[in-house]
Amino acid sequence: MKTFDCDLCGSANYTVLEVARKYIGDNEPPVVCDNCGFCYVRTRRPAKEIAEDWNAIFGEGYTSEWPGVKARLFYVAEFFDQNYGWKGKHVLDIGAGEGTFLEFIQQRDAVVSGLDPSLENCEKIEGLGANAYFQTVEDPVPVKKFDVVTILWTLENCQDCMRMLRFARECLMPDGQLVVATGSRILVPFKKRLSQYLSKNPADTHCFRWSCNSLVIALARTGFVMDDVNLYEEDDWLVVVSKLVDWRLPPDRLIGLHDKPLEVIDHFTRWDRMFP
Ligand SMILES: [Zn+2]
Repeated sequence: MKTFDCDLCGSANYTVLEVARKYIGDNEPPVVCDNCGFCYVRTRRPAKEIAEDWNAIFGEGYTSEWPGVKARLFYVAEFFDQNYGWKGKHVLDIGAGEGTFLEFIQQRDAVVSGLDPSLENCEKIEGLGANAYFQTVEDPVPVKKFDVVTILWTLENCQDCMRMLRFARECLMPDGQLVVATGSRILVPFKKRLSQYLSKNPADTHCFRWSCNSLVIALARTGFVMDDVNLYEEDDWLVVVSKLVDWRLPPDRLIGLHDKPLEVIDHFTRWDRMFP
């Protein structure tokens, strides 16, 4: 186990999200950074162990064939297609799962590859005639470079979000684009009960709870700038398309960009009261 300070700003000062306790069993509750408002889990196991848990959770019946899961992947495929187009693009999906998203964009003439820590998933991805990388982002970066990297409903579930973004950056061509999508949004209308949003799964299987601000800061800290964002306040998901830049936002420049810690805590307090 390793203890992490705030991934976004490096601060060691935090407030425990007490309201989470009644929903998460014996797990460690998330904390809110006193400096930048980022919501994260402090104690985390090695990345491979977290990935193994996710393989087990997948094994328990989770599938991207569920209508809600399929719909959100289709949404990302359509959102990017309408704004940029997939045709002819070489795409790597990090945390590709069963390859459902890759199938959608393959039908739109993208050249697809998938990276996943599950051997079974990698076999499904290869079944599409795609390249499969059986690994995590702690392993070496693929030699091939891509036009687009996608991280869909995965950045919230990894051990080290900044490492995953740096890995994505190294996978991209100089004019490449990154697409991050997440359903673990905060500071937006509650789309589900707090008891369903939080869970009794091990705390480090869901280390991060993103707002649009915190995601944009994480991207800027790893050399990306946001190019487009969906209507995340009315749709169920947050989708950010970003491009590479040759600068990194230093931690001391976060002031004014980040969420207010008390607003984040108040968001969860209201959620508990209104839609437990
Ligand atoms: Zn922070």
